[in-house]
Amino acid sequence: MPATNKTLPPTKAKPTAAGKLAASLAKLGLHSPMDMVLHLPMRYVDETQIMSMQQAALLGGRMLQVEGVVTECDVQYRPRRQLVVTIADDAGQMVLRFVNFYGSQITQLAVGTRVRARAEIRHGFFGSEMVHPDYKIVNQSTPLPTQLTPVYPSGTGVSQASLRREIHTAMQHIDWHDTLSDNLRSQYGLLEFEAAVKCLHHPPADVDESSLEDRSHDAWRRMKFDELLAQQLSLQRAQAARRSKSAPSLDCVGQLSERFLQQLPFALTSAQQRVLAEIRRDIAAPHPMQRLLQGDVGCGKTIIAALAAAQAIDSGYQAALMAPTEILADQHFRKIAGWLEPLGIGVVWLTGSLKKKEKQAAREQILSGQAQLIIGTHALIQEDVQFARLGLVLIDEQHRFGVDQRLTLRNKGNHHQLVPHQLMMTATPIPRTLAMTYYADLEISVIDELPPGRTPIMTRVIDQERRGEVIERVGAATAEGRQAYWVCPLIEESEALQLQTATDTCAMLQQALPHLQVGLVHGRMKPAEKQAIMADFIAGHTQLLVATTVIEVGVDVPNASLMVIEHAERFGLSQLHQLRGRVGRGTAASVCLLMYQGPLGGVAKQRLMTMRASTDGFEIARKDLEIRGPGEFLGARQAGQAMLRFADLETDQELVDQARALAQALLAHTLPDSENIVSAHLQRWMNHREEYLKV
Ligand code: ADP
Ligand code: MG
Repeated sequence: MPATNKTLPPTKAKPTAAGKLAASLAKLGLHSPMDMVLHLPMRYVDETQIMSMQQAALLGGRMLQVEGVVTECDVQYRPRRQLVVTIADDAGQMVLRFVNFYGSQITQLAVGTRVRARAEIRHGFFGSEMVHPDYKIVNQSTPLPTQLTPVYPSGTGVSQASLRREIHTAMQHIDWHDTLSDNLRSQYGLLEFEAAVKCLHHPPADVDESSLEDRSHDAWRRMKFDELLAQQLSLQRAQAARRSKSAPSLDCVGQLSERFLQQLPFALTSAQQRVLAEIRRDIAAPHPMQRLLQGDVGCGKTIIAALAAAQAIDSGYQAALMAPTEILADQHFRKIAGWLEPLGIGVVWLTGSLKKKEKQAAREQILSGQAQLIIGTHALIQEDVQFARLGLVLIDEQHRFGVDQRLTLRNKGNHHQLVPHQLMMTATPIPRTLAMTYYADLEISVIDELPPGRTPIMTRVIDQERRGEVIERVGAATAEGRQAYWVCPLIEESEALQLQTATDTCAMLQQALPHLQVGLVHGRMKPAEKQAIMADFIAGHTQLLVATTVIEVGVDVPNASLMVIEHAERFGLSQLHQLRGRVGRGTAASVCLLMYQGPLGGVAKQRLMTMRASTDGFEIARKDLEIRGPGEFLGARQAGQAMLRFADLETDQELVDQARALAQALLAHTLPDSENIVSAHLQRWMNHREEYLKV
């Protein structure tokens, strides 16, 4: 490729080209002029200085810019075909070497042309040289930029040159007024908005570059503050809006709840009792609860959900539990119906795989109110499902659902203007800082204790060359009456291949362990088939369950004590943690064997080491955040929309606190002109993104 940073001659853009550019910009999230202006550089290059070649020759290994006239331009074979251009200034010369080049560059760089080139200087066999420099053709009077040149985050179809041009144009068209008054700016020590933005796009040549790089410069500080303020404002507003809504008051802890608790085969842990009390108090109030129940895999969230449902039913309302997969919904159904049906409660199952007639019957029961607890998958949020009196929405593995889906289910309950309470469950712990900024409108309950009698899972990382030993372990565990899972490798490229591998693995294991009953479950099976296979495993008819990752979430078979994961290096941390959490649910000592195929890359190694070192979901989530960044925790849809672009929750904690405090003051109207400030600021920074913060 020729140089990327030379200015393109102004071409009369064809409509298609302009359309293409707009589409590429849209992919970067750039729609309006303000979006363009807030698209800030990720780094800069310094093109403000020209160094003499003599001096440059002394400074190897640094990015430098030189300017000279071409004295030679040859295609050489030494040994590869390359373009070798020599340029000279008053006192020295420099070789520009291009291993890949276009024919047009030979004419472009003809002898006598003046070239400004920028690259790291190397001292090669031919003297000082630049390999693939950024360069442009200039004449003697072409001015040097007086400012650092910005380099923007980019994507395919958008060159730096076009980004610079579009941003420059956008700057002429936006409203620059400062959303924060002089007073507020001086109180928080903030630069003016316009000055900050302009400084970031075009920093003066004498700027402290390291402060731009690590984003500690005052201009960055202003951007981060604005961004955080917008986020805090919209979260706090959403919270206030929720508090102003009415919900049915589910305040009857009656017969059902009590009999249910009495007949439980175990006592609740003190953590379970605590969160149950929190939930009971909240749903008894006449405003919608929005609570996240967070707790490591196996800590016992399901029973808490069921007890909350019992309170809703006692209070004369319906509860709905939505799970992300049929297997999980089925398991919840069996378990909870097993608890509640003997107490005379109508529990109904609704998933996409039901026959038309069955679905119809389920829908009728839901509409009539005969169904008091409804358990299912996404089928619950279909248009034709109508509830009689939905008072409580329970969502398992909440991060598996999009914001829209959760919202749809909640809206199903709009019964006499009442919004149902919502309890979401997750085993993916959300770090405190994230929770405080993204989930300001969410109360959080944490179960930080496992039921008694569990022995910690021992995790081993094993090269897959030692598969024979692993198979022996399976044989030994099942000989002791235990059960085992064997998770087949994740093959992202092809579902067909994944299926093939699972089938082969199953056959291989059956052959190696002929006396075992081996089951196979995979994503391509019909739900009924899956359920039958799972039911066999739960009942202990099969001892070994070969599975693709369909068993990832929620499956609960306490007698299973061995988990084998093939190609563990392909899985993410939270996925591994979820998978491992399928064992260690009973009293037997459990083992998780992570088989890998070497050589391991750095990140994969880090992950497997983390898994070996810790069984603590919080610790693992913290590591995961370190390795992957916060996007994963927020659910796919939220991530893209509401992500902080500039502020960093770890390092900018102080700014987060300040922004939160100011947002509070503004929304309480304790500051002059609060209302205008809030609307102008949100308008500038949130645009249409606000919806996403509300659920
Ligand atoms: P998760 O929080 O991962 O969804 P589950 O709700 O599936 O966990 O519970 C895991 C297992 O622990 C289940 O078999 C459940 O019946 C059992 N369990 C839950 N609470 C207790 C308790 N207090 N004492 C003993 N076992 C419990
Ligand atoms: Mg669960």
